[in-house]
Amino acid sequence: MDRKSFLKWLALLPATGMLMKLKEFGAGTSAMSATDIMPVLFLGHGSPMNAIEENEFVQGWRHIGAGLPRPNAILCVSAHWETRGTFVTAMEKPRTIHDFGGFPKALFEVQYPAPGSPEFAVETQKAVTKTDVGLDDQWGLDHGCWSVVKHLYPNADVPVFQLSLDRFQPPQYHYELAKELAVLRRKGVLIVGSGNMVHNLRMVAWDKLNEPEYGYDWAIEAGETMKQYIRSGDHKPLVNYRSGGRAFDLAIPTPDHYLPLLYALALKEESEAVSIFNDKAVGGSLTMTSVKIG
Ligand code: ZN
Repeated sequence: MDRKSFLKWLALLPATGMLMKLKEFGAGTSAMSATDIMPVLFLGHGSPMNAIEENEFVQGWRHIGAGLPRPNAILCVSAHWETRGTFVTAMEKPRTIHDFGGFPKALFEVQYPAPGSPEFAVETQKAVTKTDVGLDDQWGLDHGCWSVVKHLYPNADVPVFQLSLDRFQPPQYHYELAKELAVLRRKGVLIVGSGNMVHNLRMVAWDKLNEPEYGYDWAIEAGETMKQYIRSGDHKPLVNYRSGGRAFDLAIPTPDHYLPLLYALALKEESEAVSIFNDKAVGGSLTMTSVKIG
């Protein structure tokens, strides 16, 4: 080796070392290189029964799950965990929370025994500068999380932790906070927002729940408009949804199921592709529309 190629070789060393470390970190996973970035999902979760039923939505989640790299952990932002302030679950073994009523016993018997990730909970706490993120040891995995994640990773062998929604903050705040989570994607964390873009429970046509693709005009209109903005990367009107007019008012009567979408969108990088799946309305006033970024 001459001097010139020796120097070249020397210059390459640190980078090679770093790559090896990253590979060790991701041992047992499909190896991530320094440039890899985990995709982000928004999943329309719909009825808790999707946890145990076999239907096209479950198939859609399974299909998406099969195409994902194996993450080091999953961070769920679920519609069903609202708090004052922001918290992240930090226990070793999160319990499966059955946060619903009036469903068959079989649904209450579902357990999703994925481990937690106290390490990534602390990483999340460090990543967020916008507010103090509290470490939670009380919550667990609510159905917004486990009813969908169980179809992505049925073996419950990937650590899962959750981030709460501060119910006292405006949409812009959530969108900005979500941007700070970007660093986790580069550490092999799959971020999953779980809610529903169009979600008006008071207006559900219960008698038409099993009818394929039944949506009220305003639900279809709101869903189509949202998709246009998502596809064009124009997030501003989605963040300012309260000025979106009648269809948006009816589609988003409360922010809980909508905000997880903003978490996913905020994480989209300029060059990343967006794909939309499970794009159907059910029961008139719900859409199952889901998004994969990256
Ligand atoms: Zn829900």
